[in-house]
Amino acid sequence: MRQSCGSQALLENQGASTTDEIGSDAAGLRALNMVSAVPRMDWKKEEIAAIFNAPLLELIFAAAKVHRECHDSTAVQQCTLLSIKTGGCSEDCSYCPQSARYDTGVKAEKLLDPEAVYAAAQCAKNAGSTRFCMGAAWREARDNNQFDQVLDIVRKVKSLDMEVCVTLGMLGPDEARRLKEAGVTAYNHNLDTGEEFYDKIITTRTYQDRLDTINNVRDAGMSVCCGGIVGLGETPADRVDLLHTLATMREHPESVPVNALVRVEGTPLADQPQVEIWEMLRMIATARIVMPRARVRLSAGRLQMSHAEQALCFLAGASSIFTGEKLLTTGNPGYDEDREMFQILGLKTLSTPKESTCC
Ligand code: SF4
Repeated sequence: MRQSCGSQALLENQGASTTDEIGSDAAGLRALNMVSAVPRMDWKKEEIAAIFNAPLLELIFAAAKVHRECHDSTAVQQCTLLSIKTGGCSEDCSYCPQSARYDTGVKAEKLLDPEAVYAAAQCAKNAGSTRFCMGAAWREARDNNQFDQVLDIVRKVKSLDMEVCVTLGMLGPDEARRLKEAGVTAYNHNLDTGEEFYDKIITTRTYQDRLDTINNVRDAGMSVCCGGIVGLGETPADRVDLLHTLATMREHPESVPVNALVRVEGTPLADQPQVEIWEMLRMIATARIVMPRARVRLSAGRLQMSHAEQALCFLAGASSIFTGEKLLTTGNPGYDEDREMFQILGLKTLSTPKESTCC
């Protein structure tokens, strides 16, 4: 099954990248036959399309093999995400209940008190999380008093010896440097979808703005957490487009969240059809194959999935989940439910949870 990576010439010789065959089972199977666990940044969109469109069970099998070559497939990282500044955002992301433009019942709140954030991080650590992510509903991080408070919060959470991730919107080079100095491990900034579809979802900032932030994060020495959302109304080609952008960055993101749209009343995407598990599996498995070393994070949408469906996601290469009953403002399975699932599936967390947690 495994062959050497970077075999573009071979792929073309065998016809897997010719336009008329893309999406055919034969092209998909040939592309899977050349999958390697060695990271490449020279992917062609046609190659990724062939993998993405391969027969599903073969795709999952190939992804599972890559997963086992690069990771301990019995270990799943637990991350906890806390909204430290909720609602009232000036942006128009069509899926987001925190945008001030939509009537979703999410009220604008002040930045959380550092002690409250520290307590939540301690609680997450006790429950087995090794990464604590904090989100603020801002267009961008600015050099102001609130940003200074976020830096204080980062220093406090860092003292718990956890990976610290923040997501604060767009980021300039100075703010990126200061976050790194305060102890931030990773910065989350999702591309959300493929470049061509992007302006159907967000009009208040461009794809290039997002890429610029990601470059500032890398230049500051933080690791990049960057992924997208399935179910925004995008086509399979848009999903391939997103994966291609991620897999051809100068370095692969260390972390790739794959979210299923959580439809929230009042947002423009409230009436989108529910994302099918098969769509998530294709996205996760292809991400695992084209970015073999990345942590692929099964993110929003788990509340709508059975344990069996999540098991398939782990088989397809997901190596991380978000734990805790809330993901920013939407629901998520509780710690106890996840503990039960891990037990059933024989999965372990990266750190041992304490017997009793405060959450
Ligand atoms: S996704 Fe982020 S930037 Fe977009 S509206 Fe929501 S909080 Fe604002």
